[in-house]
Amino acid sequence: MPLHGEAKRKYQRNWSRKYRIDNRDKVNKNRRNYRKRIRLEAIAILGGKCFNCGCDDENILEVNHIHGANGEKSSDQLYNRIRRGETEEFNVACRICQWYHYLRELKGYKGNWTIVWRGIEENASPLCRS
Ligand SMILES: [Zn+2]
Repeated sequence: MPLHGEAKRKYQRNWSRKYRIDNRDKVNKNRRNYRKRIRLEAIAILGGKCFNCGCDDENILEVNHIHGANGEKSSDQLYNRIRRGETEEFNVACRICQWYHYLRELKGYKGNWTIVWRGIEENASPLCRS
């Protein structure tokens, strides 16, 4: 006899729970891939490079709340808001510029740095170059 209503929902919930437990590695891998894809899509929509230094290394780019996050973290919901076109509050920053922006604009830090992105070079030390 087919299930209906609450009984059907309960059956589906239990089936889904058991599937996630039995296929944990596969489910986690799919989740990571999905998250990476929507993160990169959101970054691309926002221009694909750091607003300050021009860094385009996707490994260190983040979605940046221009006026502060107010507790909102980077999340699937955030990436999906950007994918739906809610882009006004956001830009893209590398982690270094994001921290610098946070200190200067939101915490009143008075230091004045110029952050320069030099691209990715083989065998180049980021700190000790002549
Ligand atoms: Zn930057």
